[in-house]
Amino acid sequence: MSWDIVIGLEVHVELSTRSKIFCGCPTDFGAAPNTQCCPICIGMPGALPVLNEKVLEYAVKAGLALDCEIQRNNQFDRKHYFYPDLPKAYQNSQLYLPYCKDGHVDLTLSSGETKRIRIRGIHMEEDAGKLIHSPAGDCTYLDYNRGCVPLIEIVSQPDMCSAEEAVAYVSHIKSTLEYLEVSDCQMQEGSLRADVNLSVKPGGSEELGTRTEMKNLNSFRAIERAIAFEAERHIAILEDGGAVKQETRRWDDNKGQSFAMRSKENAQDYRYFPDPDLPPLVVEDAFIERLRANLPEFAAAKAARFVAECGLNPTDAATITADKTIAALFEDTAALAKSAKEVSAWMLGDMMYHMSDRGMDSGALQIKPAAFAAFVGAVTDGQINRTAGKKVFEYVFDGGDDVAGYIAEHGLLQISDDGAIGAAVDKVLAANEKAVAEYREGKTKAFGFLVGQVMKDLQGKGNPGQINAMLKEKLEEV
Ligand code: ADP
Ligand code: MG
Ligand code: ZN
Repeated sequence: MSWDIVIGLEVHVELSTRSKIFCGCPTDFGAAPNTQCCPICIGMPGALPVLNEKVLEYAVKAGLALDCEIQRNNQFDRKHYFYPDLPKAYQNSQLYLPYCKDGHVDLTLSSGETKRIRIRGIHMEEDAGKLIHSPAGDCTYLDYNRGCVPLIEIVSQPDMCSAEEAVAYVSHIKSTLEYLEVSDCQMQEGSLRADVNLSVKPGGSEELGTRTEMKNLNSFRAIERAIAFEAERHIAILEDGGAVKQETRRWDDNKGQSFAMRSKENAQDYRYFPDPDLPPLVVEDAFIERLRANLPEFAAAKAARFVAECGLNPTDAATITADKTIAALFEDTAALAKSAKEVSAWMLGDMMYHMSDRGMDSGALQIKPAAFAAFVGAVTDGQINRTAGKKVFEYVFDGGDDVAGYIAEHGLLQISDDGAIGAAVDKVLAANEKAVAEYREGKTKAFGFLVGQVMKDLQGKGNPGQINAMLKEKLEEV
């Protein structure tokens, strides 16, 4: 029997406003514990919250960018539960009248197909504090710095049916919010995290199966692995004649397994009610329209423009524009460089390689567009060949800005002089009679070997086209 996987995601994103959602405390990550708190954000009785207008602005921008309808009238509700990281014993959230409804994201999948994922809604809420369990296991510390940090929660419809789609959906949201500059979206710091709701149903069936929810996944890899594991777990239970229990589960990325945490609570367990300290919120049209008019160009539009203006292929353009910083680097460099395609080729090849090799994200890139453009010029003009290019590129990657100086200092200028190349070819032919004989017997592999030897003799700086031509010529001569 075949099974369909059904996935709905709840994505939590910390907004990067300078102060918290209901008080003036700073939101900086990594400050000493409990140094960024006040009576409001630790819930002292009688302290009164006031909504930070910047939070509303960031949240509305996110809603517009995800094609949602902004609700003119919305309100905050108290969601009650007891947990040590929540000193008020309720979280300010939005249940009855969230500020955003009915959006969508259009994904381009690896098959080339596009697929629309509907967004049910987005609401604003406050984050909770953090529990830090002592390594000795004898106590737990509480850090309330994160309490009252603004969050939005983006809730999808159960429209995804594979890990690929879930990852593409989260990537799209991450890229969009980065372009908007409303969140740093650092998954490893928890500023973007996803809850994965998953169920399976018999292939083609209309009726949804019972779902489980895995909380707080904070990397793409974790999302992918958690989906694979959980889908398999559901299918095994069902094929065994059992029933999946609706529950909240914890994904343990080290063990590669999910574990039951608690049976799923219902909305009524939280005893939601409108927060009497926060008046209903009326969002004015003028406010929304001002934000709409100032939305930036997002990844998909930018990619389409790079295809049209720079001749990139759509896949390369999509990769480059997924990350705002990388897209800007491409655009700034291409404006100065002789060949935009060459810029993109070095970015997708050597630049991505060094980034992943060093575990860097785009924020740490040091490349200067002018130097990068000069480097591309040196390659396209034939001043340096690709082998030397790799070395020079690494210099540019590390922030170097004197490309010509670096090439000269390291003697990397390409050798295109017929005399020098001819001499190297003669030398190699004389020293490698066996390979020459093999070539004449029709073994083409021997030719590659000889090219390599000539290049080696020229210390990697020979013009490969000329080496090829001259070797061929001399091999045919005799
Ligand atoms: P709750 O309010 O209890 O968290 P919701 O019905 O609001 O539950 O759904 C939460 C998330 O779970 C949504 O993203 C939704 O798309 C997803 N979801 C709901 N039902 C299913 C299901 N049967 N299979 C997979 N995902 C589901
Ligand atoms: Mg939920
Ligand atoms: Zn505070």
